[in-house]
Amino acid sequence: MADPVTGGASGTSGASGAMIDTFGRRIDYLRLSLTDRCDFRCTYCLPEHATFAPRVEQLTIGELDRLASTFIGLGVTKLRLTGGEPLVRKGADELIRSLGRHLRSGGLAELTLTTNGSQLERHVDTLAKAGIRRINVSLDHLDRDRFHKITRGGDLGAVIRGIDAARAAGIAVKINTVVLRDDNLDHLPELVGWAHGRGMAVTLIEVMPVGDIGADRLSQHVPMPVARAAIERTMPLADVAHRTGGPARYAITSSGAMVGFITPLSAKFCDGCNRVRVDASGQLHACLGRDEAVDLKAALREHGDDRALEGAIRELIARKPREHDFRIAASGPAAVARPMAATGG
Ligand code: SAM
Ligand code: SF4
Repeated sequence: MADPVTGGASGTSGASGAMIDTFGRRIDYLRLSLTDRCDFRCTYCLPEHATFAPRVEQLTIGELDRLASTFIGLGVTKLRLTGGEPLVRKGADELIRSLGRHLRSGGLAELTLTTNGSQLERHVDTLAKAGIRRINVSLDHLDRDRFHKITRGGDLGAVIRGIDAARAAGIAVKINTVVLRDDNLDHLPELVGWAHGRGMAVTLIEVMPVGDIGADRLSQHVPMPVARAAIERTMPLADVAHRTGGPARYAITSSGAMVGFITPLSAKFCDGCNRVRVDASGQLHACLGRDEAVDLKAALREHGDDRALEGAIRELIARKPREHDFRIAASGPAAVARPMAATGG
């Protein structure tokens, strides 16, 4: 009979205790949000006048550490810190320093970060010393004014300084770019060429209907084949079989530089999904595009030992849906109301 806590016959656990969902997918990747707050208001991510959860609802740095360590005990080997903007969270450095112990012990194969880069320069030393070797920096335009417009106030110079500092410290940077019909489709060849010229890979992301942004998504959305064609007008691309375990498909330029494509709408990528997300207030989300979630904060705060926490995690893994249900619509509600910044993108 199925054990409701360990999963067992219900398909949430392998013999080793690893987290395996009912579709046979091993969950070994956690995206942990340090905060839902952000110093940018990217037009595709947050409404201009965004509201955030009260700070008392946020997990403390100690709770984030305990949660991450519990997941590592359950077989998570890759941990990505995200947000909101993870580097605006007070105590981020302390947490990163502490989590570095899981790299040294071998519990984690990789500790990494997705950041908008605005605060990166002053955190680079901590990241490097903790053992972070690669990060993703989101960057949608290289023109100061257009960057300012897309992010509603971001300082491009600070982001570039952060990227340069990370690379100088030996941290590889991958650029993530959300493709936007009016704001950067025409700029993609320049952006990709710029990144490749500095030895950085680029991944292009289709805008997803996640979060009510107070604007029409259809006007932002560009199907990935259209974005790829825009690049190929100046830079021929050839498909490659390269995969990194994530949703991106890859192509290379004639000089051997890599471009990734994440296409949640024009091609689903759920079959190999190996990840779950914990938001800043401790909700564990089984899928970015679905509402299944469980409150880990209650389990963290009510129980001194980790059994209740592990039980709650396994219970959600057993409910992880087969796939997201993103559809882009000009009007009407988003596929899920919470923005990427709230779930932990
Ligand atoms: N603030 C950090 C950053 O921007 O890198 C981390 C959090 S952000 C939510 C993570 C990633 O999600 C970024 O690369 C961002 O561009 C992407 N993102 C946010 N909203 C999105 C949307 N609606 N569709 C596609 N990507 C989105
Ligand atoms: Fe902030 Fe990242 Fe969302 Fe932009 S994409 S508003 S930087 S959380």
